[in-house]
Amino acid sequence: MNRVYNFSAGPSMLPLPVLEQAAKELVCYGESGMSVMEMSHRSPDYEAIIKAAEADLRRLMNIPDNYKVLFLQGGASTQFASVPMNLINLKPAKKALYAVSGQFSGKAYKEAQKMGYNAKCIATTKDDNFDHVPVITKDMVDQDASYLHICFNNTIYGTKYPYIPETGDVPLVADLSSCIISEPVDVTKFGVIYAGAQKNMAPAGVTLVIVREDLLGYADESIPTMLDWKTMADNDSMYNTPPCYAIYVAGLVYKWIEQLGGLEVMKEMNVKKAKLLYDYLDSQSYYTAPVKPESRSLMNVTFVTGDADLDKKFASEAAKVGLKNLKGHRSVGGMRASIYNAMPYEGVEALVAFMKKFAEENPKA
Ligand SMILES: *Cc1c(COP(=O)(O)O)cnc(C)c1O
Repeated sequence: MNRVYNFSAGPSMLPLPVLEQAAKELVCYGESGMSVMEMSHRSPDYEAIIKAAEADLRRLMNIPDNYKVLFLQGGASTQFASVPMNLINLKPAKKALYAVSGQFSGKAYKEAQKMGYNAKCIATTKDDNFDHVPVITKDMVDQDASYLHICFNNTIYGTKYPYIPETGDVPLVADLSSCIISEPVDVTKFGVIYAGAQKNMAPAGVTLVIVREDLLGYADESIPTMLDWKTMADNDSMYNTPPCYAIYVAGLVYKWIEQLGGLEVMKEMNVKKAKLLYDYLDSQSYYTAPVKPESRSLMNVTFVTGDADLDKKFASEAAKVGLKNLKGHRSVGGMRASIYNAMPYEGVEALVAFMKKFAEENPKA
């Protein structure tokens, strides 16, 4: 069977050359005589794999030396709890600030509250169905707060911050799960960046945390060892067994991007793909793109026909011609095309051609 264009929000497409390389090395990695899946994480072969992955990511994202790169487990959802546990004590007031721009940032906010922390929502676009991201200005950021948490790209709604909020002396903590390594970001503007890998980086199983060194060491003694970033930072992500295979594939993805020319080139490619789709959406009236233009995501593009039955038909007919997983998130309906790094331009061309055909063949009543 041929590979399809997979528009899944996550787990999602991986670059074909990466899958082919992994397949080639699946049974026997280099001169090791075994699969990466079978290796001791303390072996020299594996040490080289994880060290190279970190070094390649540092180069790719231009991560300064005073930031630690951690490869963890538990998904981005575990970080919803880890963030307050690690950072709340940073300032004596022990306050946390959240901006709620969609479901995941809402979950992060709720998790902090659930654990009994003093967490406050300073901005939300809930009343507008999250069709844009909130405006956050420095005067909204209480300087006694230990951090401000945002979700940079909102996977479900298809929005992204077009700017990095100014927070003064309050560290900015950002969930970049669905836009990590899709374009350059200025790491120095963030205290912490975290991302589940299965959107744009690797198979599920590894969670990336990039944390500024001076923010480590504030966790209460009582927090679980595994959730303390310092434990992982002090042990180069090897306090216990890391998600070895997922980290290996992440490393292949970093090399693939570097060979293409790095994140500037990746951004050009992603802008070109997203533009093709948004330009089409803006040029007609059959489909509507609910997201306000200034908040549009390059990675997750949402659209609706305005008729739930037609939306359903769209996703099922598209799947029949090899355009898979276009159904929107179960909580919002409509359609969503996730066009991460690994989605080729041709995939978006095929989608737009299908959209035109579908509109012609299914006139609205
Ligand atoms: C998918 C996603 C999550 C949840 O990730 P898990 O790894 O499944 O816990 C959190 N935040 C964002 C922005 C996501 O896209």
